[in-house]
Amino acid sequence: MKIIADTHAHTLVSGHAYSTIREMAAAAARRGMKVQALTEHAPEMPGTCGLYYFQNLDVIPREISGVKMLFGAELNIMDTSGTVDLPEQVCREMDIVVASMHVPCFGAGHTIEDVTNAYVEVMKKPYVNIIGHPDDGRFPIDYEVLVKTAKETGTLLELNNSSLREKSFRVGTRENLLKMLDLCRQYDVPVTTGSDAHVDVDAGNFCNVQKLLDYCGFPEELIVTTDFEKLKPYLNCFKTFE
Ligand SMILES: [Zn+2]
Ligand SMILES: [Zn+2]
Repeated sequence: MKIIADTHAHTLVSGHAYSTIREMAAAAARRGMKVQALTEHAPEMPGTCGLYYFQNLDVIPREISGVKMLFGAELNIMDTSGTVDLPEQVCREMDIVVASMHVPCFGAGHTIEDVTNAYVEVMKKPYVNIIGHPDDGRFPIDYEVLVKTAKETGTLLELNNSSLREKSFRVGTRENLLKMLDLCRQYDVPVTTGSDAHVDVDAGNFCNVQKLLDYCGFPEELIVTTDFEKLKPYLNCFKTFE
């Protein structure tokens, strides 16, 4: 089993990331990636780029260093009703849209009902392709509801390599992901893989995700990033590649 697509990473315009588009593409190529997404933090994240950045992504070539490039955003989930921080029309025009919870935007200390409800409302938005790092114990989730809603709405759940780093500031990620993967297997729900790289050396780095998948023997057919054909139908831009 080989992962060939990375659906979540950042360049220096995200404000706390350190490499350029070309550096990310070259590093992804070195790791054997065929597809690299660059999903910059949306405008409510302190220090990131603004609305106009996301409206002008059309000008960037979709192949760099032999790697197919996808450009989009990591939206911030802003509240328990699932508000996000870019307009719908802008999201629809991007190749790929991840939506995630971050403390500076969503806050902390919410109940499991509130967090789960926020994810459910976000997944109902057809232009949200992926839920980013649904593994952080600081935002407790009813995983049964999450996985079933992912299936109903055709949203991908992410295995985030950075969450599984020893130094990760996210909490309980391994246990949470094992619980989620168990339910994904039970309900036949696919997952995606994101490096969440903030520097080029981590583009396409799935060492932690790979270990977790091996540990629980998760079926390859439910990992959409082993074959671009499996990933395509979940992207906003899939018609471009038909
Ligand atoms: Zn994130
Ligand atoms: Zn990220």
